[in-house]
Formats: sequence, structure tokens, C-alpha cells
Amino acid sequence: MTAQRLTGKPVAEKIRAQSAQLVQALREQDFTAKISVVVATKNEATAWYVRSIEKAAGVQGVECQVLRIPDAGQEQLAETITALNNDETVHGIILQTPLPDGVDAAKLVELIDPAKDIDGANPLSLGRLSVGQPAFAPATARSVIEILEHYEIPLAGEHVAVVGRSAVVGKPLAQLLLQRNATVSICHSRTSNLAHFTTAASVTVMAAGRANLLTGDDVAESSVVIDVGTNVDGDGQLVGDVHAASVEPKVRALSPVPGGVGTVTTALLILHAVQAATEVHALTGRKGEPMALRR
Ligand code: NAP
Repeated sequence: MTAQRLTGKPVAEKIRAQSAQLVQALREQDFTAKISVVVATKNEATAWYVRSIEKAAGVQGVECQVLRIPDAGQEQLAETITALNNDETVHGIILQTPLPDGVDAAKLVELIDPAKDIDGANPLSLGRLSVGQPAFAPATARSVIEILEHYEIPLAGEHVAVVGRSAVVGKPLAQLLLQRNATVSICHSRTSNLAHFTTAASVTVMAAGRANLLTGDDVAESSVVIDVGTNVDGDGQLVGDVHAASVEPKVRALSPVPGGVGTVTTALLILHAVQAATEVHALTGRKGEPMALRR
């Protein structure tokens, strides 16, 4: 049996089409969505990622302002976020990590207005998700759901094992899965006998950041595996958390790394920004899509 490859490209294309429709509706009323990305590092990987957001925004007709303030301190960053919250022309705020030494990231993300928190960084966004209120989920967590739904993998009533409990991936993903009536096991580094959970699951999502953590012995026959992990192996290659050579022959479907979850993330960030702008537009009394768009 050859496992189906759950590639991100068609999923990202579908999301971009959704954004394009909303952008067009906004444009017809002379309204442009705008994202601000706050970058306080000179980190190369970050610079590459930010360029990919700028490029994706440009292609979709979304304005993208990058505020480069290398080595900014707590106070300057807090002031920057507050100013962006108050700027009516800005609809989405991304505080890019890593942040300079000594900066308390948790305090800063709490400042981001949840209505502009397009990457679900403010704990209020996670809290709202967990009680079923509208909120933006972190783009990575939602990418997993978009992939599962695009490929029509059933979730309701299914056992999903999520390996990883971070606030950006594992925890919000667990909430999104619960909303879809999955039964969720959240596993982490202190879980004893991880395979007990992953072999019992019909869907396993790996978000641990440990290359080769999931092998063929750890999965159920004909289950589905989504690999969120991004690790660099000894040869400098990007690899996930899944030992694909042993997992692939056993499972029904597997998302690749690269080419899986990561491919969808930026498209979703842009969609969130456009949804935020549409929401503002609706609130200001003009035509727009309802808040129910955000999930
Ligand atoms: P993180 O904050 O380091 O969290 C990792 C989680 O995995 C923690 O909950 C940790 O448990 C758990 N874990 C670590 N080793 C484990 C083990 N041996 N067995 C079981 N659980 C283990 O990482 P993150 O930010 O959530 O990211 C997770 C992965 O996704 C990383 O590889 C990251 O690069 C990748 N990622 C990809 C994208 C994308 O767009 N593709 C975006 C974001 C992140 P404890 O809580 O007990 O420490």
C-alpha cells in the first residue's frame, strides 16, 4: 500500500482563492487590508520568513508593513504594539520571534488586540478558542485542520493523538479538533508510553520538533499522520518528526515535510488578515462578511 501524500499546495491554493474573493469585495469599496509585522531581530531565518509573508501579501493585494527595530527593548516594543492597535488602517499584527534577550515575549503578546491577533499569539485568543468564541487560531494549528478537511479525513468521533502541547501548535490544535468533535489525546515529553496513544489513534499529529520521533512501530495500520515538525538533519536537510521510510508503508496518508503544513501557514495568515479587515469593514457599517468566518 502506498500512503496518500497530503500535500499543502492545493490547500494553500484554496485558501488563497478565499482571500482573493474577500480582497475583491473590499476593493470594490476602496478598502485595503493591511498587516504589520514587528521584527526585532536580525536572524536570517526570520528575515526569510518575513519576506515570504511580504511576498504572499503583495500577490494577494494586501498591504504589508514591516517594522524593523533590531535590538528594541520591552518598552519600545510595547509602544509599537499599542500604536498598531490604535492604528485603524492596520488589521493584523504579527510580533515576529525570536525577540532580543531580556524581552518578555509573553507580556508583549498580551498587548496585541485580539481582533488584530492574526497569528493567535495573545493567550486571550487561545482562551476564546477553548470556550468556542470566535478567535484567530495560530496559523500553524489551523493549517493542520485545513489539510485534514481538504482531504476529507473524518474527525468527528475519531481519536486524534496530538504530540506537542505548545501554545502555538499543540494546545490550540487540540481545541480546534474538539470543536470538530474529535476525541483528543494531548501528548508531550512527559507522556509515558507515547506509542500507547499514537497506535490507538486514527489520526496522529506530530508537533514535537524531534526528528524521527514517530516510527512505523508507533502508528496504527491505515491511520493518518500529519507532520508539523521542522528539524534540520545532519545533512542540513529540512525534515519533520516522522520517520517517513517506516511510517509511509503502514499508514493511509501522510503529510510531507517540506511541502505539507508549512506550505499552508502563510496563506492562512493572509486570510486571517483579510478576515480581520472584512470584520472591521462590517463593523464600520459597510458591507462585509460575518464574524463566523473566523475559526
Ligand atoms: P515547542 O514549543 O518546542 O513544543 C514542542 C512540544 O513537543 C512540547 O510540548 C514538548 O513537550 C513536546 N515534545 C518534545 N519532545 C517530545 C518527545 N520526545 N515526546 C513527546 N513530546 C515531546 O515547539 P512548537 O513551537 O510547538 O513547534 C513544534 C514543531 O513544529 C517544531 O518542529 C517547529 O519547528 C514546528 N513548527 C512548524 C511550523 C510550520 O509552519 N510548519 C510552524 C510552527 C512550528 P513538553 O511540553 O513536555 O516540553
